[in-house]
Amino acid sequence: MANIACKFCSKEFGSEESMNQHIQAKHGGLGETKKSGGKRTKNYFVVIALIAAIALFSYTFYARSQKTGDYDEFAKCLTGKAIVVYGNDFCQYTAKQHEGVQSFEKLSEISGCVI
Ligand SMILES: [Zn+2]
Repeated sequence: MANIACKFCSKEFGSEESMNQHIQAKHGGLGETKKSGGKRTKNYFVVIALIAAIALFSYTFYARSQKTGDYDEFAKCLTGKAIVVYGNDFCQYTAKQHEGVQSFEKLSEISGCVI
């Protein structure tokens, strides 16, 4: 009768079945314990990193939205007077136009809205 040794603790068994039972009972499965444990820890860190990234992103977005909110009142005033400015602040061509022909100061002058 060939003895089968446990690959974890080298304890010998009469049959493969009893060795597997021993592995299940003493080592928590067929060699998955240590691997899955490490994976679980890794996943835990990934989740933490993800939460941190989301928190950082939200904060940055919030801070930025607070910053660009400078013209909120001015924009509301313009909207209230049915004046529409085409383009957006992120477009460099629009931004250039704002500096010249369509400057906020000029718009303020025309509309009577305070920047
Ligand atoms: Zn063992």
